[in-house]
Parts: sequence; C-alpha cells; structure tokens
Amino acid sequence: MKAVTVNPASRANVEVTEKELRPLESGEALVEIEYCGVCHTDVHVAAGDFGDVAGRTLGHEGIGIVTEIADDVTSLSVGDRVSIAWLYKACGRCEYCTTGRETFCRSVQNAGFSVDGGMAEKCIVTANYAVKVPDGLDPAQASSITCAGITTYKAIKVADAKPGEWIAIYGCGGLGNLAIQYAKHVFNANVVAVDINDDKLALAKESGADMTINPATEDAAAIMQEQCGGAHAAVVTAVSKAAFNSAVDAVRACGKVVAVGLPTETMDLSIPRLVLDGIEVIGSLVGTRKDLEEAFQFGAEGKVVPVVKTRPLEDVQNIFEEMEQGKIQGRMVIDFKM
Ligand code: NAD
Ligand code: ZN
Ligand code: ZN
Repeated sequence: MKAVTVNPASRANVEVTEKELRPLESGEALVEIEYCGVCHTDVHVAAGDFGDVAGRTLGHEGIGIVTEIADDVTSLSVGDRVSIAWLYKACGRCEYCTTGRETFCRSVQNAGFSVDGGMAEKCIVTANYAVKVPDGLDPAQASSITCAGITTYKAIKVADAKPGEWIAIYGCGGLGNLAIQYAKHVFNANVVAVDINDDKLALAKESGADMTINPATEDAAAIMQEQCGGAHAAVVTAVSKAAFNSAVDAVRACGKVVAVGLPTETMDLSIPRLVLDGIEVIGSLVGTRKDLEEAFQFGAEGKVVPVVKTRPLEDVQNIFEEMEQGKIQGRMVIDFKM
C-alpha cells in the first residue's frame, strides 16, 4: 500500500512510499482510508520538532471504512466509517484516563507520531479508540473535524466561554476557522478573529467572526481592550510566540489564554500581569473520544461546516510547503480514491 512517511532527506520532509501492514492483533481493526487531512502538526512531526520519527507514517485526520476486525472486537463492525485521530490509544487505567483527561495519559500512543497513522491507503486502529463518524456527515469534512475540529471545540470548552462573552481566536487557518465556527455557532460567543493574512480574515468573517484584526498592521490586544473591554478568553492556534504574547495582553482580568498552537519557542509571561489580573494560561491537547463524538455531531447537524479542499496523494509535498507558507484556506484533505 502507499503511505506518506517522514523522510528528512526528502522535499518537505515527506515522501510517498510502499509499506506493508502486519496482521491484526487482539482488539484491532483494519481501516481502508478514504480521506486524511494535513494538519500543521504533521509539518512539525515531519520536521522533527518533537523528535526524530523517520519512517513513520503520518496522519491523524484519517477517515475510512472498517474492512476487517480481530476476533475479539465488539465495538466495531465491518463497514463502519471511523476516524483515526491523534489519540490512537491510551492505557485506560491511569488517573488521566479515568478522569476524562485521556489525551494526557503518560503511556498514550499518537497516530502519525508514535505509531503509524492514517495518511496511507490502509491503517490498523485500536477498535475501542476509533470513533465512529455519524451518518449525514461528509467524510472529507469529518476528516478535518478529527483533529482541527475536536481540538478547537475542546479548547473552547477549556476556555469556559459563556454565551455572549468575547473570545479571541489567534490564527485562522485549519484549526482557527473551525474554532470560529464552534465559538460562534455552538457556544454562542462573540468572536474576534486575529491572523496576519488578510485572506484568512476574509474567510473568518464569512465563518461568523464579529470582528477581525490583522496584527501585522494593528495592535490586536489594544483594539480588544478598547472595543470590548478585553476578551474573556483567547484560543491561540497561531504558530508564533508573538500571538501568544498578544493574547495575554488581549484578555480582561481573570481571562483565560488557551494555548493550542505548537511553535517551538517560549512565550513571555509578565508575572505581575498574571498575579494582579488573575490571568490563566493553560494548554489544551486535542480532545477525548467523547469530545470527538460531540464535535462530529455538530458537523452532522450543519452547525459547523469545515472548509476543505480534496487533493490527490501525489500533491502531498506541495501541501506541506503551502501550509508552511501560510497559503492554505481551511484544510487540504488527501483523497485516497483520487
Ligand atoms: P495552519 O497553518 O492551517 O494555521 C495557522 C494560522 O496561523 C495561519 O492562518 C497563519 O496565517 C496564522 N498565523 C501565523 N502567525 C500568526 C500571528 N503572529 N498571529 C496570528 N495568526 C498567525 O495550522 P493549523 O493546522 O491550524 O495548526 C495550528 C497549530 O496548532 C500548529 O502548531 C499545530 O501543530 C497545532 N495543533 C495543536 C493541537 C493541539 O491539540 N494542541 C492540535 C492540532 C494542531
Ligand atoms: Zn492535528
Ligand atoms: Zn492512561
């Protein structure tokens, strides 16, 4: 089968190679992949930002159909449409797994990073961790919800956004566009979209943003403090420390800054600002299987409509380069049948 694997010597650090899958083990299922979105995390993984994983099959926005199950699998049937998300498998027993924080399990496995992922014609999944895609949700759109959607839906939960409150979304790319839609159409918040590219801001406006700001030409934090008294929360998906620093200045007293983007930098944090204004800064990592089920359901109901464009597998290096250059609107999704 064809698979997109990490190769530091190749253009964009990725290549399309031939791979064979091992036989299924207990608790596993085989999935024939239909679609897999390219997330900015794939670009980080391929670049070695989180360690050397040369040879790994990428992909954690996989969607496909179950074609085989191990004898002991009861949670999936052949023919089911399922997702391959970053949360590939966790221990199920530790303090994180048993308290609704399974993405932080210390022995978690992540698709497309610590185990082979969904950017391939076929993928082995742990049946109990492969969330089913509801009927009525377009599979290419479901692909984008499998990481970009669940991550931003969860981040807004972590931000504790209440109806009518102001929430700033920094970075309006693959994740940010969905963050705007969940914030606006599911949580009924008022949304400020912040991005350094005007085309992303135009899409943000179409997606429901109440206010847009380009920090390349304006001081985003000053505008938010002036026009809405500071945001109640900010979700930062931008791959830039400047955005994280601005978010801390953009929130009102007792505001929350939810860190989602993964630039390999450190941010500046003024201790008096944190203490005197009671600011919280908190990381949010994808979401649980339950979060994904909910995020899918809002997609199926049409409250959230992922902006996706399907591309053939051969385009994968171009897609990675376009992503790094900030040229992508919404999500590029590899169509394995194209
Ligand atoms: P993307 O490339 O589609 O979007 C990034 C956006 O940030 C672009 O629109 C870009 O124009 C914008 N941007 C860049 N610099 C900016 C700045 N200074 N201010 C405002 N906007 C700026 O990437 P994506 O797929 O949306 O992923 C974004 C980040 O989130 C990546 O670092 C990715 O690894 C990370 N991520 C984290 C999680 C998690 O669970 N925490 C999950 C998925 C992705
Ligand atoms: Zn991702
Ligand atoms: Zn665990």
